[in-house]
Amino acid sequence: MLNVLRNRFEQGCKTSKYPKATVQLLPRYRGRPQINPQAPSDLAAACAAACPQEAIDPAAGTIDMGRCVFCGTCERISKGRFVTFTQDFAIAVAEKEHLITKGHLPNLAEHSRQHFKKLFGRSLQLRQVSAAGCNACEADLNVLATPFFDLARFGINFVASPRHADGIVVTGPISRNMQAALLQTLKATPQPRVVVAVGSCTLSGGPFRGSPEVSDGLDRLLPVDLYIPGCPPHPMTNLHALLNFFK
Ligand code: SF4
Ligand code: SF4
Repeated sequence: MLNVLRNRFEQGCKTSKYPKATVQLLPRYRGRPQINPQAPSDLAAACAAACPQEAIDPAAGTIDMGRCVFCGTCERISKGRFVTFTQDFAIAVAEKEHLITKGHLPNLAEHSRQHFKKLFGRSLQLRQVSAAGCNACEADLNVLATPFFDLARFGINFVASPRHADGIVVTGPISRNMQAALLQTLKATPQPRVVVAVGSCTLSGGPFRGSPEVSDGLDRLLPVDLYIPGCPPHPMTNLHALLNFFK
């Protein structure tokens, strides 16, 4: 017992001070994309042609973050002259059209539904549904329970049963085989409930978009309240999204 106490004392508190203090991510992290409107049109077209996700509209000069897998190809081939990825991890949105961006994103907290804040601001229980995800989105949600992020200190927990949940968090491209399970889980979640879509696969089909085996976006099956882009979204993106949308 004394060893345990000494160990705790020596290690100190490992929990992040976020959101009271900022968190600096590693330089290789790719967050909110920023488009250079002055970039030559042929460079924009080359980036669009190289994008594996067809996420770039060169005429409009936009990136669809719902499709983007943040592979960095566009930044690399344009040498940062058309697209750069910033360190900003606050990239979740409440409206699907906000995923298509030139670099500016609306303030998520201002687009939250006030009744959600009132209902779930102090306690939010979520059921996670992995609908054929590769496990990276799921792992980066799981990590929110570790001491550094300590999601429970905000009154937010992942629970085992949809009957105990205030909403569902969906990951993966929603394969045909998972559709019925997903819809049943939603049905078992009492009203009022929230639906959170996490990761490129859930937002648009991701790398599997266009396959007859997956759904090209959760919003095609049911209404979505919160969209969290990434492949996978960084845990800080998930944390920022949950705190700003519900608190
Ligand atoms: S980073 Fe996104 S927009 Fe750029 S090439 Fe990769 S998938 Fe396409
Ligand atoms: S969005 Fe990317 S990380 Fe998440 S399940 Fe799909 S392929 Fe995996």
